[in-house]
Amino acid sequence: MPMTPTAPPSAPHEHCDLLIIGAGPAGMAAALAAAPSGASITVVDDNPQPGGQIWRDGPQVALPALAQQHRSALAQHTNIRVLTGTRVVGLGATHPTDKAPALLLEDADRGWTQHSHRTVLCTGARELLLPFPGWTLPGVTGAGALQALIKAGLDVRGQRIAMAGTGPLLLAAAATATQAGATVVRIAEQASWASLAGFAAQLSRWPAKALQALALLNPHLRASTHVLEAQGTVQVQSVRLRRGMQGEETIACDRLACGFGLVPNTQLGQLLGCALGGPLSNGQGLAVDAQMRTSVPGVYAAGECTGFGGSERALVQGAMAGHAAAGQVQQARALRPQLARWDGFAQALQASFVLNAAINTLARPDTLVCRCEDVPYADLAPRQGWIDAKLHTRCGMGACQGRICGAATQQLFGWTPAAPRHLLAPARIGTLAACTPTPATPEAPTG
Ligand SMILES: Cc1cc2nc3c(=O)[nH]c(=O)nc-3n(C[C@H](O)[C@H](O)[C@H](O)COP(=O)(O)OP(=O)(O)OC[C@H]3O[C@@H](n4cnc5c(N)ncnc54)[C@H](O)[C@@H]3O)c2cc1C
Repeated sequence: MPMTPTAPPSAPHEHCDLLIIGAGPAGMAAALAAAPSGASITVVDDNPQPGGQIWRDGPQVALPALAQQHRSALAQHTNIRVLTGTRVVGLGATHPTDKAPALLLEDADRGWTQHSHRTVLCTGARELLLPFPGWTLPGVTGAGALQALIKAGLDVRGQRIAMAGTGPLLLAAAATATQAGATVVRIAEQASWASLAGFAAQLSRWPAKALQALALLNPHLRASTHVLEAQGTVQVQSVRLRRGMQGEETIACDRLACGFGLVPNTQLGQLLGCALGGPLSNGQGLAVDAQMRTSVPGVYAAGECTGFGGSERALVQGAMAGHAAAGQVQQARALRPQLARWDGFAQALQASFVLNAAINTLARPDTLVCRCEDVPYADLAPRQGWIDAKLHTRCGMGACQGRICGAATQQLFGWTPAAPRHLLAPARIGTLAACTPTPATPEAPTG
């Protein structure tokens, strides 16, 4: 692929050969796979450093060697430009001469339109948060959210932390909290011991994962246990848990971190017109073919925006997408056996941590489901679907724009959240001004 010179950083319209959104494992692998083609590559991520969720950097982080290798490899390629602290906020106007599609980008200083004929979406996933009594109390967070806060410098030394929900992220977050000086008093895993044992028995197929699981094991882990209520007046003080069919326990804690699985970040892909689907996301991820192509020509997707399966799968998918987007189809094809191996891991993971029906019944009538607009469960239960709920209750119309309650109502009521609309995120007026179409003779170089 011929290299297009990158526009000067102050231009309101810029052009690259390959635009990669997300600098987690998938995005980094995509850029590194495409780099030898000589294409001009721009990688965009809204975090301060590349790494995504698993390799999130911060004052309390010692990055693993693999993350450091990826970061320094990115820096060594002169044709890769990494724009951190930069967010895609919406769609831009298509380039008037070469018809390159465009996205609207914003960083702390400016907004601009980024044109590219090829785009790889590596936007990852977010936690599934579900409502239960007390979940809006200060001190109650997502499990991954607590992990991110600790990595960013939150001081949890001496604090008692309870975790609840499902999946390996609980154990990873508990390990981060323990390393930071907290005492993890309980890890309530809703899956049964039989499920956990079945999962562990399969791990010999992925030895590195077996070692990881051993390192994360925690004596406070309890299976068949789920949260009933966070208790406290102005701050969480204890958590009430259901153990097995009948038992209950109440545990004093300073923080409660809950995560019920992951939700793929598909908003940008949907805005571009990409279809959802795929067996490893319950149909909620971006659908891709064997070359990581989405249903929209020129748009590829990789990593957890296509389904869940851990960083290894994201790395392989990212490399495949990068190769394919750079026209290196043979190299992409050569990675299929590796992808099949990690798809197998993803299947084992998902089959072992299926949410049980009791998790859907935790909210009481007065429990807020949409915490931005203060909409309780009782107001939503009679509604017919997402749009009906939005119109009658303002559910999903607050600051998070349905990112939390949309996924929650999908789990609780089976509603399909409405497709996202331009803008994806709040943006400055100056950025919107940059959204104006390019002049007929653009000053930015074209490919
Ligand atoms: C909160 C959380 C914590 C996790 N912690 C762990 C862990 O400790 N261990 C583990 O094994 N797995 C963890 N996971 C799972 C982990 O996400 C994956 O295994 C791996 O990081 C997926 O890689 P990815 O590249 O697909 O996505 P991610 O790593 O999620 O990277 C996606 C990147 O895209 C960026 N992005 C998304 N949308 C935009 C936009 N519009 N504009 C600009 N940038 C954008 C995001 O900020 C992010 O940096 C965690 C998941 C979550 C949700």
